[in-house]
Order: sequence, then C-alpha cells, then structure tokens
Amino acid sequence: MSRTMPTVRSVKSLRTRVHQWRGTGETVALVPTMGALHDGHLSLVRLARRRADRTIVSIFVNPTQFAPGEDFSSYPRDEKSDKTMLRELGVDLVFAPSAEIMYPPGASTRVTVDGISEGLCGASRLHFFGGVATVVTKLLVQCQADFAIFGEKDYQQLLVIKRLVRDLHIPTKILGGPIVREPDGLAMSSRNAYLTPRERETAPLLYETLRNAAKKLAAGGRIGSTLGQSRAYLKKAGFAVDYVDARDTVTLSPVKGQSAGPIRLFAAVYLGKTRLIDNVPVKPGR
Ligand code: AMP
Repeated sequence: MSRTMPTVRSVKSLRTRVHQWRGTGETVALVPTMGALHDGHLSLVRLARRRADRTIVSIFVNPTQFAPGEDFSSYPRDEKSDKTMLRELGVDLVFAPSAEIMYPPGASTRVTVDGISEGLCGASRLHFFGGVATVVTKLLVQCQADFAIFGEKDYQQLLVIKRLVRDLHIPTKILGGPIVREPDGLAMSSRNAYLTPRERETAPLLYETLRNAAKKLAAGGRIGSTLGQSRAYLKKAGFAVDYVDARDTVTLSPVKGQSAGPIRLFAAVYLGKTRLIDNVPVKPGR
C-alpha cells in the first residue's frame, strides 16, 4: 500500500488533522513508540488499523524515562526506515515531536502513578514510570485518540497507563496487544540490537525459563521454590537477575502462596549491559 503519510512535529498540526478526521465521524487510534521499529510494534499498528479508521504512530525517544547513565543517547534511532515500514502498513500520520515540543522550557508538571508503578521495574528504575506516565499523558492529551494501543511486553507499563487514564478521566480506550517473539522465543525489543552474538544465543533462555516455571506452577508447584530455581538457572546461564517474580495479573500484588486470581510471571535480567524484560501467564490446569 502506498499513500501519503505526513510526519508532523507540532501539536497544532497534529490537532488540526485529528480534528478534521473526527469532524467527519472517523475514529482514531494512537500507537506510541520510541522508534527502532520491529514486528512487535508493527503488530500493534495492525491492531490499531483494524480498530479505528485512522492510525497515528508517535515516535519519540522520551528523555525523562531514562536515568543518567542509561542508554538514552545510544538508543537506536532510524526514523527513515521506521517510516518506510509504517507507510507500507497504511498508517495515516506519524507524530515525531522534538524534546523541546514535548517538554517546553520551564515544563514542571509530572504524572506519578502510585502503587502499581512501585514494584518490579519501578523498584530498580526509580525514574522510569514517572517518565512514561508523563509522556503518555501528554501524547494522549495531544492526540485525543479514541484508542491507544500498548504491548503486553511491557505489562506493568500497560497497567500503569490503564490506571492513569482511569484516574485522570482521559477519554481514550487503552488496548493491549500480545507479545511478539523471535522464532526462538526471545521477545522482540529494540534493545535486542545491543546483544553480542553470544548474548543473543543465551537470550531465549529467559522465555524458556519463565515458561517452564509457569508450567510447574500450573501443575501445582510451590511458588517460592519454583521462582528460586528459575533465578538460580538464569544466573548459571550467565544472566544478572534483577527480578523473577509472580504477581496477580490485575493488581500486580505479590503472590506468595496460592492465589485466588490469575498469576503472571515477570522477569528483568541483564545480559552484559543489556536489560531484557519478559512475562508469561500461568494458566491453571495446563
Ligand atoms: P517502545 O518503542 O519500546 O517504547 O515500545 C512501544 C510499544 O511497543 C510499547 O507499547 C511496547 O510494549 C510495544 N512492544 C515492544 N516490544 C513488543 C513486542 N515484542 N511485542 C508486542 N509489543 C511490543
């Protein structure tokens, strides 16, 4: 498919387009990204295309979600190749603002989501969810889309965004898309590009370990010992483990013994300098 796909960089131009579409009764979906697009992102774009008449993809590497010393400056950026992929999928508009547009001089408002942001990735990346919540709130207010689509790859992030949208009465419906994986199971991520060939060979063990743990738990295994074995296995395989944890799927509360609600396993690890995250559902009786 080849049609025009303008790139706009100002909020005013973005709003003008969205206003035109909505004025003729068309629905709008937004897919926020930091670029360096892969099939995981593209699956969310396809979902958006099915769900709404018009699809906007934002590309913005958000400085406020990176701590000093993290990979903000080295984060992969390739707007030209991203746009080629998006044009082929029939995206209607790319919103690629500068940092100055997103954070005008003197900007001093931040969005914080208590509770659900605090464990898992929030515990080791203290700045992260504040940065994400702030930039996503801005994008939602700027775009005024009917739908915004986020990946379950960043499951905690998806729940944080659902919560802030509910709490702030933002009239955009948040939808989640399933994790897209490489053929060997590794969850696709823009950061996979950092892995050395050797690390790339090791990386799929993260998903394999989580899947095995989920199977054990589904068959009645004890949570504490199963998670302990998973951590030990990952360490032995060469990962530095940040966390491997079992949480309630809806509230993210820690699960110690048996849980009433559905459980999900979450992990964050490092291979060399590269942080990888993944999560899998525990399906009872399987
Ligand atoms: P990012 O560019 O990493 O900020 O990701 C933009 C969106 O794509 C977020 O909603 C992510 O959760 C989602 N995403 C990233 N990787 C994947 C994947 N492997 N499968 C599905 N969604 C993904």
